[in-house]
Amino acid sequence: MFLSAGVRFEANVEALNSVETTGNFSKHRKVPYIIWNEEKESYDVIYVPAMSGESLAHAYQELLVREALNLDKNAPICDDCRRGEFFKSMNKDHLKGKVDVSKLKQITPQEVEKSIVNNCLIEDIGGFLYAEKPPVKRTSSFQFSYAVPVKNVALLSVTEPLLHARHAQMREMKGKSEREGAAEQMIYYVEAGTAIYGFTFNLDLDSIGLSSFTGEPIIGKKDLEFRKEVAVRAFIRMISSKQFGAKLSRFFPAGDILGVYVSLTQHPFSVTSPIYKDAISMTARRLDVLKSKFNEKVSLIVYDSMEGVEGLSYDFIEVVKTPEEVGALLIERGF
Ligand SMILES: [Zn+2]
Repeated sequence: MFLSAGVRFEANVEALNSVETTGNFSKHRKVPYIIWNEEKESYDVIYVPAMSGESLAHAYQELLVREALNLDKNAPICDDCRRGEFFKSMNKDHLKGKVDVSKLKQITPQEVEKSIVNNCLIEDIGGFLYAEKPPVKRTSSFQFSYAVPVKNVALLSVTEPLLHARHAQMREMKGKSEREGAAEQMIYYVEAGTAIYGFTFNLDLDSIGLSSFTGEPIIGKKDLEFRKEVAVRAFIRMISSKQFGAKLSRFFPAGDILGVYVSLTQHPFSVTSPIYKDAISMTARRLDVLKSKFNEKVSLIVYDSMEGVEGLSYDFIEVVKTPEEVGALLIERGF
């Protein structure tokens, strides 16, 4: 089964993805973005605030760890991943504890993969790249797009450097001259962004626990079901908790999840990107074709506060009132 989700969220005053610090200035990530210019009747490229897919994937993997341990405190997760350091068996040092490194010369890449997958469910779901001999690569079961502003309000997205100050009480600084104490004071700028963002998440549930060499299961059936459930729960937890992006401790975005729609299909399918204003209805029309012409089992679960989906009348759609209900339905249905 293949899960695909579109998410829209409003974030006012966020610093979810800063890219560089020059002196006392930390800059928001910005990306080139194509829009249709009505007046010129041609396309324009503008620069808009954005959040990288890497950043979203990092948050998701941290929540994978958490959800797995919530459900089973003995879930197989390696020490690196447990700490949220996703080195992913990149070299011999980070292979320890998952594969018997003294036998590396005698075992095949297939066996290396099997051993890693068995010992760390994060690297099963999130993939890894062992770049020494023999090189072994496992592709991630999930994909994240960048989070970028939705098209019809992209021109309204802004970034603004905000001044902050750290004050020192100079009089109390014994043994230091007032001039030295001044260094303890600091002004700094954090460039904050404001936009309505959209991103896509895909999860190939069928690839979890399977060998990338043979396509055969390399973990037990019970483990397989557990890992699939953890993968779905972590995504819903991410949306529900809004624990993604940087600087949450002082720049937790003011705003909310405006929509999340999730399709379940038998084979790979990606929902229409949430950057388009009628993405949910377009997704539904596309799924309808898959269902009627390709005889595929499809379903679409929708929470929406932007687009207006009341008029959509397909028997495979379920419209719910909260993002959490989307998750509850997914888990209830099983995968
Ligand atoms: Zn790991």
